[in-house]
Amino acid sequence: MDFPDFSDYGPGMAPAPPKIDDPRLARLYQGASLCVMCGFCVPHCPTYAQSLDEAESPRGRITLMKGLATGDLPLDDAGLAHLDHCLGCRACEFVCPSRVPYGQLIDTVREVTEPQRPTTLAQRKARQLAFATVASRRRLRSAMALLRLYQRSGVQRAVRGSGVLRLLDLERLESQLPKLPPAPRWQPVYPARGTQRGAVALFTGCLSETFDRTALEAVIQVLTTTGFAVHVSDQQQCCGALHQHNGEPHEALRLARANLDAFAALPEPVDAIIDIVSGCGAQLHDYAGLDWPDEADRARAAAFSAQVRDISRFLVESEALKGHTLRPLDGAVAIHDPCSLTWVLREPHFPHQLLRAIPGIELAPLPNNAHCCGAGGAHLLTHPEQAARLRASKLEPLMAQPPAWLATSNTGCALHLAAGLREAGLPTEVVHPITLIARQLESRTESP
Ligand code: SF4
Ligand code: SF4
Repeated sequence: MDFPDFSDYGPGMAPAPPKIDDPRLARLYQGASLCVMCGFCVPHCPTYAQSLDEAESPRGRITLMKGLATGDLPLDDAGLAHLDHCLGCRACEFVCPSRVPYGQLIDTVREVTEPQRPTTLAQRKARQLAFATVASRRRLRSAMALLRLYQRSGVQRAVRGSGVLRLLDLERLESQLPKLPPAPRWQPVYPARGTQRGAVALFTGCLSETFDRTALEAVIQVLTTTGFAVHVSDQQQCCGALHQHNGEPHEALRLARANLDAFAALPEPVDAIIDIVSGCGAQLHDYAGLDWPDEADRARAAAFSAQVRDISRFLVESEALKGHTLRPLDGAVAIHDPCSLTWVLREPHFPHQLLRAIPGIELAPLPNNAHCCGAGGAHLLTHPEQAARLRASKLEPLMAQPPAWLATSNTGCALHLAAGLREAGLPTEVVHPITLIARQLESRTESP
């Protein structure tokens, strides 16, 4: 009988790591080598759950990453597609017993592969324009002003009727855009009502400022009513998540530095930096992990991140609503747990806890909450069919008895879910948890 040759696997006899010159690929190899192929992560992966294909699982993708790092497995279109289908939800990282830093690995893959992609000049220019627009608050506000004009001037009706959107393959994307509210004009500071118990800064976020101004106004209303002064720096920028997770870490670093400077220049020290979008919160929490040129910058980033709090967590931990009355809510609320809140920040329970403060609330988790809704960063734009399939697994069970509200703490997920509800003809309103709290909050009725 022939026995397999295990001589390569004994202690101290592991094969020497290959020599890899590119430091990014060397890091990729090192991280991917932590994977022991146990498969614990596989059933937690939403793309594997849909396809039952090993190459669409974290373990399969890590094998591809190792091959990419060593050059043993040159990435063809099919390999690249398996990596691209990854939503970056990081459920696999959360459950991994070997602590494979999957989020960092997939970011590195995107950085390394981005320049090698077979894109047309027009596609490259469109991407550059989109990323440059998000990276500047001034440019984003100008772009949104144009979009508002498009929606309100009658041009939208003419364009839709012309068929040009179908020709440019933009019909679906355009139809999912909600009607933009008027542009926000923030005050530098909103004073606390009554006795001030603290001061906070508000991170407005590019997507939420554009699409969920109501939630930002709700944050200001609730915080000032509960005794906090709220500072809104006009110098703040996008958190950088889009750039970090799509192959542009240098731009993400530049945006992080701009935010450190903006929040350091506030006129008074603050107890916390409040975010309302868990995707932004995850990036803001991760600033110290960026590729800072020196340790002083990294320490400054770590101090910044330590102050960042999701609004639900802040209100629960500070017991800010104690002594305030919330009106009862008549109707069911399905609550969605965004991946960034669950798997990255690891605090999905705070919005549930916060909303349970509303008397009479009928709160239930959105079906299939453990799997990504499909929004996954820019996934709803880059892979709309896959994003729609993932969303359907959550919305179809609601068809028989749609809840009055669907609450989520991530603007990208909110837009994606709201578009699905509209398409399905369901009357459910998608709201941020803080919006529901603000609607139900009465003026102070007793001393805290
Ligand atoms: S759980 Fe971790 S070690 Fe196991 S296969 Fe997945 S990534 Fe690899
Ligand atoms: S990040 Fe999410 S989609 Fe990507 S491999 Fe991990 S579990 Fe799957």
